[in-house]
Amino acid sequence: MDFKDQVKSSVDIVGVIGEYVRLKKSGSQRYVGLCPFHSEKTPSFSVHVARQFYKCFSCGVAGDVFEFLMKIEGVGFFEALKSLAERCGMPMPKRSLVADEDSKLRAVLLQMQELAAANFRTNLQGPSGAEARAYLEKRGLRPETIEQFGLGYAERSGRALLRLLEQQGFDKTQMEASGLVRKRDDGTFYDYFRNRLIFPIHGESGKLAGFAGRALAPDDNPKYLNSPETRLYQKSHVLYNLHRAKEGIRKEDRTILVEGYMDAIGLTAAGIQPVVAVCGTSLSSQQVQMMKRHSQRIVLNFDPDAAGANAAGRYINLLLDERMQVRIMELDAGLDPDEYCQERGAAAYRERLEKAKGFFYWVADRARAAQDANDPDARVAVLRQLVPLVERIPDKLERMTAAEDLASYIGVERGVVLDQFRKAVATRREAVFERPKAALRADERLLLNAVFHSPEMADELIRELKGVESIGHFASRRIFQTILAMAEAGAEVRFEEVHARLEEADQNLLAEAVLADDADVSAEGVAAAIASARRSGIERRRSELKVRIKELERTGNWPEALRLTGELQEIERAARRS
Ligand SMILES: [Zn+2]
Repeated sequence: MDFKDQVKSSVDIVGVIGEYVRLKKSGSQRYVGLCPFHSEKTPSFSVHVARQFYKCFSCGVAGDVFEFLMKIEGVGFFEALKSLAERCGMPMPKRSLVADEDSKLRAVLLQMQELAAANFRTNLQGPSGAEARAYLEKRGLRPETIEQFGLGYAERSGRALLRLLEQQGFDKTQMEASGLVRKRDDGTFYDYFRNRLIFPIHGESGKLAGFAGRALAPDDNPKYLNSPETRLYQKSHVLYNLHRAKEGIRKEDRTILVEGYMDAIGLTAAGIQPVVAVCGTSLSSQQVQMMKRHSQRIVLNFDPDAAGANAAGRYINLLLDERMQVRIMELDAGLDPDEYCQERGAAAYRERLEKAKGFFYWVADRARAAQDANDPDARVAVLRQLVPLVERIPDKLERMTAAEDLASYIGVERGVVLDQFRKAVATRREAVFERPKAALRADERLLLNAVFHSPEMADELIRELKGVESIGHFASRRIFQTILAMAEAGAEVRFEEVHARLEEADQNLLAEAVLADDADVSAEGVAAAIASARRSGIERRRSELKVRIKELERTGNWPEALRLTGELQEIERAARRS
């Protein structure tokens, strides 16, 4: 067993994938969830525990735990191997330190980011960090919170980090690629963040990706500066605090989305969880996907100003497109989430959180505020504006209830308008989950599962299968042929090796068989499946013979017809005996 196999057999694929996808058990060995690699409404993504394998029956992605991590984190094989090895506490063998170019670059960049993060943290505690410390104190942050979130300070000079990176021997290309320093026209460098409070930003797996820096001087623009895009940091693919919050999101089945870093930190410090923040950008559909993988329920809690409301208004559509269940939480007295928590306390915040209304009430309030409420036509206009939004509520019952509630909320009389509203909302077309059509018979499914069940079972079964002529007519015949050929060549018949040798159509069949989860892989079950395969072979030969005999009789080829009739009788006698 090589190192890769050792890691693979030690790591729990459901645990790893479960950190990115909300998985539900569906059968003894199978888990299902929404595919993280394409947008879908009903789960067609399956994970098989014993086969250590995942497959999406909609978009076709499939593979093992390494392929999953490479794809979802956008990393190379080496990094996936390393992170999984770390996960199960296995030291990497020396020779594997030779990585590919991209992995090497990412490793160097990560090293530089970590160096910078440590430097920022030290600065914050030192004499130059006084102003930043004062700001944090004013915002009511405790030392343990500052430590938990790894906050720091970037020096004013513009050379501090540069000097450190030079001392550590990083070259110019690496420095430029890090985003930590900038190049002037004359080729010299200077620090990207200067005189700023620093928030480290992590990827979903918890690896440091980049930083955000808040200006401390009032005339410094922009107020928030994010790391430029690097090989480690793509701002539309990162959500602030997601790596800390994701477990809580799955547990609570809800995400609280806020605008600012300080909001996420303040709420978390006050015991309000799980909170994530958009990182100084507009919410992207990738970010929505990242949240949706953990929970489809979201509460937006943005600043109580026009900018916050406009952002919430824009995001609703994006969130509904991904079938998220959206609630909006509004805070009064012009307080942002962090301030609210500090002034009114966590309990008061929590109470408002639980009372957060469905997004359509919030939209109705906004639309109504823009109209003359006493004008009956205006009410209808508000209602019309809401139809397309209510139509997008995923659950039918919830949708119909919302339609009723909204009509009375807005003050529209029962009648024609309400009927129209109801009709528009009810006729929304429901997406139907299309289960993969079973292309395989029960006996071939069971035999395929049995081959991979245990090496002992496989040896005996493969010997026996050689004598079962009818597998040559199975839909899965090419899979069996591959298995028999591998056994013939003395190779160990393992799921991934067989899978790797197949064409895509056959890979799908194999995945279907393995993920069907209805196979009784016992000695009796296998014997019954072989008997059934044999019977089906005999059945096929019988009908073949009957057709052939009729033909021969029609053309007057009596001797041949007689010979085949003899064979047919022999088969039927044998069938009666068994
Ligand atoms: Zn998919």
